[in-house]
Parts: sequence; structure tokens; C-alpha cells
Amino acid sequence: MRILLLLLSICILSVPVQAEDDENQPAWQWSAEKINATVNKIRAGQDLQPAQWPDGNRIAVLFSFDADNETNTLSRGGSPDPLLLSMEQYGARKGLQRILALLDRHEVPATFFIPAVSLQLAPEMAGLIKQSGRHEFAVHGWIHASVTGMTREQEKSIIRKSRDYLESQTGERPVGYRAPFGVYSENTHSILEELGFLYDSGLAADDSPHALTVNGEPIQLIELPGNVNFEDSVLDPMNTFTAGLVTSHDLLQSFKDGFDTLYAEGTMMLFILHPHISGRASRIGIYDKLIKYMKQHEGVWFATHRQAAEYVSALQK
Ligand SMILES: [Zn+2]
Repeated sequence: MRILLLLLSICILSVPVQAEDDENQPAWQWSAEKINATVNKIRAGQDLQPAQWPDGNRIAVLFSFDADNETNTLSRGGSPDPLLLSMEQYGARKGLQRILALLDRHEVPATFFIPAVSLQLAPEMAGLIKQSGRHEFAVHGWIHASVTGMTREQEKSIIRKSRDYLESQTGERPVGYRAPFGVYSENTHSILEELGFLYDSGLAADDSPHALTVNGEPIQLIELPGNVNFEDSVLDPMNTFTAGLVTSHDLLQSFKDGFDTLYAEGTMMLFILHPHISGRASRIGIYDKLIKYMKQHEGVWFATHRQAAEYVSALQK
């Protein structure tokens, strides 16, 4: 009996045994401690929404274009289908020019998240994007590969190499990051902080800029959250969940509805778009209508991600 009691008390009191058990338990058996530790690995921290944006503007509108082009498919390895690659090459050959012409016409700035290999395949993109002097370059991986399975050192090396390549080709040192496929590891944000990045844009806990905590501790990096409702991926023909179900006109209406809410609240609206998807002849027109619609409102600040992050960051000092 004494032995039985001793064994029982070891099971109850021994923390390491409990932790080990937690690792192998299904989620419905997790302890509160395990649940908290899991969500706290990376979490939205302090709300950094300013009372107003520069010049008294009430909403910041941030357009980002992820120029993935062929890296979207190349990153998956294997023997990519030539038709698929050509649909993505369209982003550099046609889509980007249409988008830049549209942004020029409206004098709207944007941030271009570019995988390094995408720029290697179409180096002319750098000069085209730089022409207006309005836009920003930001890091979006080397070949748009997911970080799944990478060690911390491998992930850090890829992010550094990607940033250095973009800097060598554009003459500007990027300060922003978005994870390829939106896949972050538990190390990504602390790596970005170590490498001196100003912001990340890809998590989705809010509509407003916010701080981040890693294992419960605040870090310096600013998060400019994305929102799946303000993306164009639903129009991607390879998106088998939505292909054919959503038209670009549906998307325009959804964007306008989102703008109405965020304008009334006075916060931020951030778009995640792709030249090979939104730069199509049948779709580019919705962005013309959308920008005209937003410009009918007073107090709309169109900015790059960097400008918004720098503004927010300066208010904290
Ligand atoms: Zn991407």
C-alpha cells in the first residue's frame, strides 16, 4: 500500500512527468498551463492603433502586392506543370505593369513583397517598381518555401539572405517581412527582431497595428495584420475551395463593405494581393473602382506598410 501511495504521489507531484504527458496527450486533455504556453508562443500584444493617422486622417489604407509569380509553384519542388508556371509568369510580364499603371494614375503607394528568386527570374521588376519613387520593397522568402521543418538557424539564414538579395537589387534595405504561404514558425518573430526588422505583416489577430509577445514577453517588432477578407486568393484558379464561386465583382463589394466598417471605426485596412491574380484584364478594373470609392471619403491616408509602421513606432517613443 505504501508503495502504491508513493507511486501515486510521484505521478501527481512530478511536473516533468505531467509535462511529458501533455506532449503526447490529445488537445482535449491538455492542462490550462499547456494551453496557455501554446497560444503564448506568439500572440498579439498592445494595441498600437493611433488616435489619428498623419495630417489628421482617420483611416490608413495599405496595399500590398506579393509578387510570388513562379515561386508559388517552384517552392513545392518536383516537376512543375508548364501551364501553371506560365500563369504565374503572367504576374511579372503583364500583371505588374497594369498594377503599377493603376497606382500611378491614382498616385497611391504600395508595398511589394518579393521572394528573391522571383526577382532573379524577372529582375526588371525592381526598376519598374522603383520608377514612381512611391513604393516599398519587403521580404517574402527566398523561393517562397514554407519554413516547416527548418531549424531556427536555417530560417534565420534564409531571411537574412533574402533581405540582402533584395537590398543588392533595389538599393534599399527592406524593413518588412511576410512569411511565404503565411506559414510562421515559433522562431520567426524573434528572428526578425534580431535581424533588425521594423515590422511583420501576415498574422491576423486584429485590423489595427499591434505589438507582439513571444512566450509572454513583449518584443520590438510591429505587426501590421492581414485579413483573409481583403485578399485576392479567392480568385486564384488553383484555390479549389473558391474557384468559380467568387467573382471579382463579389470581391469588390466585399472590399467596399469592409472599408465602410473600418472607415467608420477609424482604423486600418490592409490588402494582400498578387500581380498574377489581380493583374488580369478582367480584374484590374475593380481596383480602379475601389480606389475611386475610397477617395470619395475624407481622411483616407494611402501609405506603404513602412510608413504606417514608422508612424506607429514614433508614437511609442
Ligand atoms: Zn506569397
